[in-house]
Amino acid sequence: MLKHYTIPVFIPELACPFQCVFCNQRKISGQQHIPGKKEIEQTITGHLKSFKRADRVAEVGFFGGSFTGIPIEQQEHYLGIVQPFIDRGEIKGIRLSTRPDYINEKILDVLKKYRVSTIELGAQSMDEEVLKKSFRGHTAKQTEQAAKLILENGFKMGLQMMVGLPGDTLEKSISTAQRIIELGAANTRIYPAVVIKGTALHKWYEDGKYTPLSMEEAIQWTAQILPLFEEAEVKVLRVGLHPSEGLLSGHELVAGPFHQSFKELALTEIWNQQLQPLTENNEAKKLTVFISPKELNYAIGYEAKNREMLLKKFDSVSFVAQPSIIGRSFETLLS
Ligand code: SF4
Repeated sequence: MLKHYTIPVFIPELACPFQCVFCNQRKISGQQHIPGKKEIEQTITGHLKSFKRADRVAEVGFFGGSFTGIPIEQQEHYLGIVQPFIDRGEIKGIRLSTRPDYINEKILDVLKKYRVSTIELGAQSMDEEVLKKSFRGHTAKQTEQAAKLILENGFKMGLQMMVGLPGDTLEKSISTAQRIIELGAANTRIYPAVVIKGTALHKWYEDGKYTPLSMEEAIQWTAQILPLFEEAEVKVLRVGLHPSEGLLSGHELVAGPFHQSFKELALTEIWNQQLQPLTENNEAKKLTVFISPKELNYAIGYEAKNREMLLKKFDSVSFVAQPSIIGRSFETLLS
C-alpha cells in the first residue's frame, strides 16, 4: 500500500475578520510569520528528501487560516509555488483548509485550475446554537451548501469538528458527527475546545461564563464519536490539537482538555468499555486476550490503564497480538 504524506505549510490569516471565540489563530498554528516563496519551496524540498519510502504519495497542505479567505492573487501565488512540484510528479495534489462561507463556484474554479485535490472545511459544529454562541460567523446551512458544491465539483472533502464549544452537549456533538458523515466527508479531524490565551473564551473562562470539558468528558465524548466515523469509513486524520510549541510549554494554554496523546486516551477508553464486561461473573484467575496487532497498544491502554483495570479482577493478564483478528474484536482464554 502506498504511504501517504502531507507536507504542511502554515499560512496564518493575519487579517481574519471573524472572531471565533476559541481562536487566536497565530497562536494555535504556533507560528508568527507568513512564509515566503523560497521558504515554502525549501519546506517542500526538505520534506521530499526526508521521505524514506519510494512507494509514496505526497500532497502539500495549506493550513493555519482560511485559505480561500485571503485575496485571490495571494491564493494563486501560493498555489503557483506548488505547480512545478506537481509537474515533476513529486507532489500529487494540494489540500487546504478554509471556512464553509468562503466557498463558491468562482473560488472552486481557481482551486481546480491549480490542481487542489482536497478541501477541508472547519464545520466545528452542525448545531446552529453552538455556532452562534461561538461567534463562528456562519451557519450549519452554509456548511451543507459548501459541502454539496465541493463534492459536485469533484474535490475530496474533509469536515473538521470541535467538541465542547459553548452550548455544546454530547448529543449535539454526536449529531454533528452524523451530519458530517451524511454530507459525504472523506475525512475529519476532531478537536476538543481548549482555552487559549487572548481569546474570547479566555475572558469568558475568567469571568466564569465558560467551562471547558474536563479531560475525562472530552475523552468520553470522543470515544463515542470515533466509532461513528470508523463505521462510516470516514478517515480520522487527527484527534486533539497539534502540540505546537506554545501549547506544550503551557504559555498559550489556559485551560481545557489538551493532551499530547489525546487520541491514544480516547482509544484506550473505547477498549476499556470493550474489556470491562470481562470483569463480571467470572471465576477465572488468569486471562489472556488475543488482539489485532494494530490495536494491541490501545487495548493495553495509555499507561497500561486497561491492563491495570483487569488486574484488579484477575491474578494474571496477558495481551497477545493475533494477526488473524481484525479491528476491535478480540478473543479470550480464561483459566
Ligand atoms: S477559526 Fe478561522 S475564521 Fe475563526 S477567527 Fe480563527 S482564523 Fe478566523
